[in-house]
Amino acid sequence: MDQNEQYTAEEPAHILDEGFVRDGTLTVIVPAFNEEDNIAYAAERISYVLTDAGIRHAIVFVDDGSSDRTWERIRSCSAERPAVRGLHFSRNFGKEGAVFAGLMNCGTECLAVIDCDMQQPPEKLPEMFALWRQGVDVVEGVKYSRGQESAAHKGAASLFYHFVSKASGFSLEDTSDYKLLDREVVTVLRHLPERNTFFRAMSFWVGFRSAEVGYEVEERKAGRTKWTPAKLGRYALDSISSFTAAPMQIVTYLGLLMLAVAVIFGVTALVQKIQGVALGGFTTVILLQLFIGAIIMISLGIIGFYIARIYTEAQHRPRFIVSETCGFGKESVARTG
Ligand code: UDP
Ligand code: MG
Repeated sequence: MDQNEQYTAEEPAHILDEGFVRDGTLTVIVPAFNEEDNIAYAAERISYVLTDAGIRHAIVFVDDGSSDRTWERIRSCSAERPAVRGLHFSRNFGKEGAVFAGLMNCGTECLAVIDCDMQQPPEKLPEMFALWRQGVDVVEGVKYSRGQESAAHKGAASLFYHFVSKASGFSLEDTSDYKLLDREVVTVLRHLPERNTFFRAMSFWVGFRSAEVGYEVEERKAGRTKWTPAKLGRYALDSISSFTAAPMQIVTYLGLLMLAVAVIFGVTALVQKIQGVALGGFTTVILLQLFIGAIIMISLGIIGFYIARIYTEAQHRPRFIVSETCGFGKESVARTG
C-alpha cells in the first residue's frame, strides 16, 4: 500500500482486484485443530486487543477437521460476534492447509496468521499492523525464546532449522507462522501452483518489504500440542523437500565417498594379490557389501521421496476441502484450494 495512506473506520470500502476490500480491516486467520477450550478465549483476546487499538477486524477460525467440539464453539462464537467467521474442513488436512484456506478466503487488504492456543501474543498485532501501514508488506513474528520445550524437541528443531536455513538461503531460526501480510503477498501466495507448501519460509521466498516483530512464546492456554513426533518428522521432511533438492546431492557425495573407499580397497587387494597374500579378508567383504547396500538403499529412498513429491504435485489435489462455513453470509467462499 502507499506510504502515507491512512484509514478511518468510517471510510467507504473500495473493491480492489481479486475482490480485496480496502477499508482498513485486518483479517486474523486462526488455524484450530482440537482446540475447543481455546476458541472463545482466543476470539475474546484478539478482539479486545484490536478493538482497543482501534483496528477494524475480522477473525476467521479454520477448523482443521477437529474431532472435539471445536466447530460448535466456533459457530456459537460467530453467532455472538459478527466479526468472527469459521471454516470447517471435511477432515484434518494439517496446519498448512488451514493457513492457505485462510489466505484463499481473506477479503481484506491485510491479513495476519496466529495460533489458536495463544502461544503467540495477539498484543503484538497492533505493532505489526502499524508497520504495515508504514508500507511494510510482510511482518514476521520472531521468537525471543522457544518457551517450554523438551531438550530433545529443542535439539531437533534447531537441527531442522539449521538445515532448512542453509539449504534455502533464508535464515529461518526463531521464525514462526505468526505473520502479517499485505494483499500483494497474499495474491502471490494464492497463485503459487504447488500444493506442498511451507508457509513459514514462503513469506521470505516471495521477497517484498519486510520487517520483524519479536515476541515471547507464551504457555499454551489449554489442551496439548497437536504435534506428535511422527507428524513433526513428516512436516520436517515435507518442508525440506519443498524448499531444497540438496538431499539428492547427498546421493552424489555418498557415491564419491564409495568411490574413494573402492579405490583404497582395490589397490590394497591388488597389492596383496601381487604379494601372494590375497587369502582371507572375508569380514571386509561382508562389511563392504552391507555398507554399499545401505548407501544404495538410502540413496534410492531419498530419490524416491522426491519422486513421491512429483507424484503428489502432479495429482494436483487441493490442500484443503471446506465442508461447512459460518459467519460469511452471502459472500462466496473458496471451498478448495
Ligand atoms: N494445527 C492445525 N492443524 C494441525 C495441527 C495444528 O490447524 O494438524 C493448529 C493448532 O490448532 C494451533 C497451531 O496449529 O492453533 C499450532 O499448533 P500447536 O500449538 O499444536 O503447535 P506448537 O505450538 O506446539 O508448535
Ligand atoms: Mg502451540
